[in-house]
Amino acid sequence: MRSFPRALLVTLTGALAVLACVDAREPAGEGRGDKAEQQAPSSAKDDAMPRDPALDPTIDPMTLTDAEWKAILTPERYHVLRQAGTERAGTGPYLENEEKGAYHCAGCGQKLYDADHKFHSGCGWPSFFKEVEPGAITTHRDTSHFMVREEMRCARCGGHLGHIFADAPDQPTGNRHCVNGTALIFVPEGADVNEVLRADRKK
Ligand SMILES: [Zn+2]
Repeated sequence: MRSFPRALLVTLTGALAVLACVDAREPAGEGRGDKAEQQAPSSAKDDAMPRDPALDPTIDPMTLTDAEWKAILTPERYHVLRQAGTERAGTGPYLENEEKGAYHCAGCGQKLYDADHKFHSGCGWPSFFKEVEPGAITTHRDTSHFMVREEMRCARCGGHLGHIFADAPDQPTGNRHCVNGTALIFVPEGADVNEVLRADRKK
């Protein structure tokens, strides 16, 4: 039915200009043009790289949605960093790592701990006697699991790292930062931080 008026119009006028005009309007009349316009921006967005504050320092990690964190973190890291989870004692990475270098946040890439401040506490999680510099982490009172503990979070992204315990009298600060290795990315001394973070995200 739709083609009939068009054929009639073409026959009546016989003019190429009118034919061109009708042809151009036809897709829009069927909605194809509108649809294409609506889909273009969203499909372009889907194809784009997810916002990753570890790879782009201009991204404010505090603005990431839960879905965006899920898209860039492994399930284990998401559980620890974004759901305040705890890796099982003795199972996380870096427990025995004695290399020189720095430990960065697996969520946002911020430098959190220096290998020089790491010590063997025997607790089953990587332990440090202090953060790399004041302000790298924030502390929060945690009353979950029927305990009162001091929770540590990454100051840049708010990701959960672990807890601080004042039970390391043989260490310079007397404190043990008990950190989930899952929440960390180790950058060996002399290595390019951005390269290490990029390579880690491709794992
Ligand atoms: Zn972070």
